[in-house]
Amino acid sequence: KSGFIAVIGRPNVGKSTLINTLIGQKIAIMSDKPQTTQNRILCILTEPDAQIVFLDTPGIHKPKHKLGEYMVKAAEGTLKEVDAILFVVDATEKMGPGEYYILERLQATSKPVILVVNKLDLIEKEQVLPIISRYADKYPFVGVVPISAKAETNLDSLLTEVKKYL
Ligand code: GDP
Repeated sequence: KSGFIAVIGRPNVGKSTLINTLIGQKIAIMSDKPQTTQNRILCILTEPDAQIVFLDTPGIHKPKHKLGEYMVKAAEGTLKEVDAILFVVDATEKMGPGEYYILERLQATSKPVILVVNKLDLIEKEQVLPIISRYADKYPFVGVVPISAKAETNLDSLLTEVKKYL
């Protein structure tokens, strides 16, 4: 099994930490070929049963200028090529304009989108379900996985979920 996974989410939710942790645990190949105006980080995770290519799509955030618009187009092009999308959100922050903007962009895709609720280490257990339902009300996610990229919690479940779509 092999496939491409886009990792999206507004800045600071923990996308790079997540990719670094996954790759750091089970190292394979990592390169940062400049493919768009901003470097798109390409990481390949090789597991016994799967090879997963993670694509960072920095341009998905709200454009503030013309160049930004170009980058958003490039990022949306990426979304068309992937097998699934990981939408990473920060469990410690309220859903804000950054999230609404991405949710709106996601309406245009037919790809499976997995909600990844990150920074589980910073919240109480009782808060997890209310956070999930707030997002699930807004979009038909194919799966939801709460994780801590930093504490390396529940990353196995995330990989299991991702592999369903390769
Ligand atoms: P990105 O902009 O989405 O790539 O976010 P980063 O990976 O750079 O993370 C932003 C900040 O959140 C950094 O200070 C990380 O150390 C921190 N961070 C990321 N994941 C976690 C997590 O699971 N728990 C905690 N406590 N902090 C995290």
